[in-house]
Amino acid sequence: MRLVVIGYGGMGSWHCECIKIYNGLSIGESIDVVGVYDIDQARIDLAKEKGYSIYSSPNQIWQDSSVDAVLIATPNDIHYNYVISAAKAGKHIICEKPIAITSKQAKDMYDSASKAGVVFEVHQNRRWDDDFLTVKNIVDNRLIGEVYTVESRVTGCNGIPGAWRKEINRGGGMMLDWGVHLIDQMFNMFPKKVESVYCEYSYIYGEEVDDGFVLTAKLQDGITYRITVLTDCFRDLPRWQVYGTEGTATIGDWSINGGMTTIVKGEENNVEGIKAGNGMTKTMAPRTDNSKKEKPLQIVRSKPFEFYRNFTAAVKGKEMPYVKQDEVIKVFEFMEACNRSAKLNQVIKEF
Ligand code: NAD
Repeated sequence: MRLVVIGYGGMGSWHCECIKIYNGLSIGESIDVVGVYDIDQARIDLAKEKGYSIYSSPNQIWQDSSVDAVLIATPNDIHYNYVISAAKAGKHIICEKPIAITSKQAKDMYDSASKAGVVFEVHQNRRWDDDFLTVKNIVDNRLIGEVYTVESRVTGCNGIPGAWRKEINRGGGMMLDWGVHLIDQMFNMFPKKVESVYCEYSYIYGEEVDDGFVLTAKLQDGITYRITVLTDCFRDLPRWQVYGTEGTATIGDWSINGGMTTIVKGEENNVEGIKAGNGMTKTMAPRTDNSKKEKPLQIVRSKPFEFYRNFTAAVKGKEMPYVKQDEVIKVFEFMEACNRSAKLNQVIKEF
């Protein structure tokens, strides 16, 4: 597959490095990055230094019949026009997340790709994160009983980095940046109907976009899913905390430190009160050792670079793209419900 990277910034250059490793593994059809297009001379110079050919305009890419596909890794507001033009030119498309700023734009982009008969896949790479797959395995295999609450968190303390990520019209803000990943994970873990959502954004740094948010979604079958994104948190919180009818699991960080604690059925829990602050508590005292079991996490590792392999297979018509239109639109509509919730300070029940 002959592919051109549009936008050779942080993510565009990361893709180029990943594609080299992917090709070396020979796990799928190889991808030849035949060129790069960017508007920033410094990034163009860097791409040249790395040995890439430079396209001088988008039209040059559209008109190059030897190009099969493009990978769009520009700021969020520019994805739309590139996707529509690439589809019209008959190029298959990988587009970075979020593909657009609104669900309406996202639908138009899919319509355009579908009319042109090209594969259009969003890089929702965090479906293949080992921490996520480890939690999904806990849920699917009832390792702590029936899971009824999931807390998914990403936290940093650097504010919002970069320029365009701080601008509302450019698709900035943490909901579009991180929410789009974490909500996609939620629907992958629980492909269930959403009953309600309540969301609060934070504006600690005084930017025009949200620098973080906390949302609580109520899903069918009594499942609560909380997502927290913070950019002002100087002390670590667990990446995941998962509550089941028979125990609790913690996945502490990206390196998947943590564990599971489950109850031992049939054992008495003769809990004794403990001193707590200026009082005593039995309710919040630890369980007795005989009535609980500490277990290591069963870490699930993803296959490397499944996204690229699947994309090339989808272009050949051998597989369906993993990341599907209805899933992407569902995430956009959910984010829009979060916006309404935050604006009205209300629980939203209609999606
Ligand atoms: P960035 O600012 O580092 O890079 C963007 C690049 O696009 C820059 O080199 C810029 O010069 C170029 N550019 C700007 N306007 C352009 C135009 N009109 N035509 C061509 N090039 C143009 O941003 P980034 O962090 O690399 O993010 C790029 C995209 O990747 C965003 O959509 C972001 O959400 C996404 N992203 C995804 C992940 C992930 O894990 N999937 C991680 C980071 C970023």
